[in-house]
Amino acid sequence: MRFTLVGAGIGGLATAISLHEAGFEDVTVFEAAPRPSELGFGLNILPNAVRELAELGLLDALRQQAVQTRELLLCSPQGRLVWREDRGLSAGYEWPQISVSRARLVAVLAADVRRRLGDGAIVTGARLVGLDDAGSRTRGVFAHAGGVRRTVETDVLVAADGIHSAVRAALYPAEGPPRTNGMTLYRGTAWGESFLTGRSMVVLGDARRRLVLYPIDHGAKGSCLINWVAAFPESAAGALHRPPAPEGDSGMREALLGEFGSWSPPGLDLARLIGDTERIHMYPMIDRDPVARWTFGGVTLLGDAAHAMYPAGSNGATQAIVDARVLAWHLASHPDAGDALHAYEADRLPPMTKLQRSNRSMGPERVLTLAHQRAPGGFEQIGDVFSGEELAEISRSYAATGQFDQDGVNLRPTLTVRRPRRTAMPHDNGRAE
Ligand SMILES: Cc1cc2nc3c(=O)[nH]c(=O)nc-3n(C[C@H](O)[C@H](O)[C@H](O)COP(=O)(O)OP(=O)(O)OC[C@H]3O[C@@H](n4cnc5c(N)ncnc54)[C@H](O)[C@@H]3O)c2cc1C
Repeated sequence: MRFTLVGAGIGGLATAISLHEAGFEDVTVFEAAPRPSELGFGLNILPNAVRELAELGLLDALRQQAVQTRELLLCSPQGRLVWREDRGLSAGYEWPQISVSRARLVAVLAADVRRRLGDGAIVTGARLVGLDDAGSRTRGVFAHAGGVRRTVETDVLVAADGIHSAVRAALYPAEGPPRTNGMTLYRGTAWGESFLTGRSMVVLGDARRRLVLYPIDHGAKGSCLINWVAAFPESAAGALHRPPAPEGDSGMREALLGEFGSWSPPGLDLARLIGDTERIHMYPMIDRDPVARWTFGGVTLLGDAAHAMYPAGSNGATQAIVDARVLAWHLASHPDAGDALHAYEADRLPPMTKLQRSNRSMGPERVLTLAHQRAPGGFEQIGDVFSGEELAEISRSYAATGQFDQDGVNLRPTLTVRRPRRTAMPHDNGRAE
């Protein structure tokens, strides 16, 4: 059976590895960019996805590239603690939570795809520009550098081409661009001194603004590479909307300090961190409305193409990895690929729809909004604002919605299933037109 994966992001690469692990050999990933992403921003990957990466044999490689997250602190802008919880191994999971540079995670995944499936398994500079039915198969048209177009006929086409998915646009032509909640995100990394446990993730917030900080690498003499994300409403950010030219970076730095300069992340000098950040990237905060179907014949959606959500709770890439494993499990377990794609959708679409909705109110971080609403002038003790049980329940119910609660992760059966392997097909990446 031939598999064509569109997009060599975390979702597409994890799918290629998962399909190979499940016994499929004719798998090709087509990526529009000239090479898989080199963006070095941080991602937190939750233990439910780390379990999947571990079962694919990637945990040792990742441990060397990542920081194992120990705790999460949610704080007011003044740095007062609203909620703290252990994370990963410290919280009793059998697998860690990891904080890692996206570029490093992509590099580990891409190396494993090439090791398993050969160098030809990732075709870069190949953008999907057309999709149609070819009887029982699907035809994808890819534009390559130099204006060459190639058509690939495939049994299964998995769209892992992100929030601006061309495949989803072909399936839902009336959908239009992603939705924004009016917030703008700024993102950067800088070396600084290790803070709190050295493996802590801190989120500060008020009614709408958010500041997220965590280390993604450790250096010499107690230094660490700190990933930060700052989000605030676009009206306040309006003055920053300039092209990201060199002087744009300093303009953004100045405006970020205007917005967050009085905030006090515990153990961190924020002004210094933003001042030491070489490049600042800006994005609108966008997501997609949930849809009723991901699967159409031999085509299915995965990762952000299926369920793009606001970045709260560390779930976008995490859930793309879980999608990949569930999809491969169904394909290995059902004799008919169409049945497998429907079973994958039935497993994954309902919980991801709930998660997308929960992230519209910022998932677990909504306690920060509530704290601000209940005590707009700040508070001395969080116990004056919330009961411990109310806070614990918000955290518990979000973990259950995202299916990353401890019992769910530790006790559920493995998604590893092995089919007898057939001889590898040489990579025939389509016919030129
Ligand atoms: C500020 C911020 C912080 C985040 N933090 C976290 C976090 O801590 N934890 C977490 O789990 N998630 C986080 N996320 C979300 C996470 O980045 C995404 O959910 C994840 O990258 C989705 O992976 P994907 O493979 O589905 O899509 P993408 O990563 O978008 O990959 C899609 C790939 O497809 C390629 N492509 C696009 N169109 C085509 C085409 N037509 N043909 C061929 N290739 C194409 C693209 O070039 C890209 O390589 C964050 C997001 C943001 C914005």
